[in-house]
Amino acid sequence: MLSTLLPIAKQFATAVSEIIPLGNGLINDTYLVATPVSQFVLQRINHSVFSAPEQIMSNLTSLNQYMARLSSVSVKLQIPEILKTNANDSFYRDRNGDCWRALSFIANTESIESIRHIADAEQAGFALGHFHRLLSDLNPGLLHDTLPGFHIAPTYLNDYHQVLLRTAGGAIETDRQSRYCAEFIARFQIIADDLETAKKQGLLTLRVIHGDPKLNNFLFDKQSKKIVSIIDLDTVKPGLVHYDIGDCLRSCCHTVEPVAFDPDICTALLKSYLLEAGAFFSEHDYHYLYPAIRLIPFELGIRFYTDYLEGNRYFKVTEPEQNLHRAVNQFKLCASIIAQESAITSLISRLQSQLS
Ligand code: ADP
Ligand code: MG
Repeated sequence: MLSTLLPIAKQFATAVSEIIPLGNGLINDTYLVATPVSQFVLQRINHSVFSAPEQIMSNLTSLNQYMARLSSVSVKLQIPEILKTNANDSFYRDRNGDCWRALSFIANTESIESIRHIADAEQAGFALGHFHRLLSDLNPGLLHDTLPGFHIAPTYLNDYHQVLLRTAGGAIETDRQSRYCAEFIARFQIIADDLETAKKQGLLTLRVIHGDPKLNNFLFDKQSKKIVSIIDLDTVKPGLVHYDIGDCLRSCCHTVEPVAFDPDICTALLKSYLLEAGAFFSEHDYHYLYPAIRLIPFELGIRFYTDYLEGNRYFKVTEPEQNLHRAVNQFKLCASIIAQESAITSLISRLQSQLS
């Protein structure tokens, strides 16, 4: 029992039997609380990432209410429900100013860090597509933008150029990996505008997105191995579904030795994604899938590399070059995607024609 957390857990329940750490999330602190009658998830919202927890909780409330109005036969995914405090608030602010919330616990599930079988990729594609399809009728204007600037690649590129000027690119000349990053960005920076330009031109429209659909934010039922829930909803906000699909493929298709983009996982994931999302996909949505798949690792590489040049202020590191290595990894993944451009675009055309 983590007794220091007891007064906090008791804001949400009268009696608490046990509190244990849950999962291995990197952003929030997450615990499983047992009461004599049930279990729930207790989370401290990371305030260095999210400055307005009330906006996160307001978005989650809107999402819960919207999902509750959908016909239960058509909904194949659960999302955690907000459990109110004893004072009927959606979160509790402790004496240090930290915000805590309680969510319903989705039992008998596990989150995984890498794809075990192709069936996992089919599940991930289905879950993200289903999530997007269910929310495609929710007006994104009703949600707060909890992370302004998130996935706006031209801004990340601009920040990089500013940092480069400030640091005079000192590290770049001397270090081979750093040179690789700088050269990769210089060579491909033209792609940074792809999605934002399409958004400005009205070719891609704002919808409700998850914002962080990494593999470990899907909960698989331990027995059936099917995804039954999508969690970590702090970044649910107005955005382009292309950010989500690019990020989901980035996280699921990334093989390590050697760093590459796995075409079989991509095929399985995109196919099951489009079986769901195809219901609202436009011609332009299909057209911008490949640019999105290519852009998201490029964007993340820029963010890691910029942070490395700035002295690792944003992404936590255990050694000083970790963000440099992370950047190299993302750029290699991006290079692998670019090398497979014709196969990926043919796959998208094939899937589109099968669905129309
Ligand atoms: P982070 O933002 O830190 O990644 P998450 O909301 O993803 O936080 O939670 C971290 C981990 O806790 C998840 O990967 C999952 O294993 C577990 N978890 C979180 N919420 C629930 C829930 N409602 N039911 C079951 N497990 C959960
Ligand atoms: Mg998570």
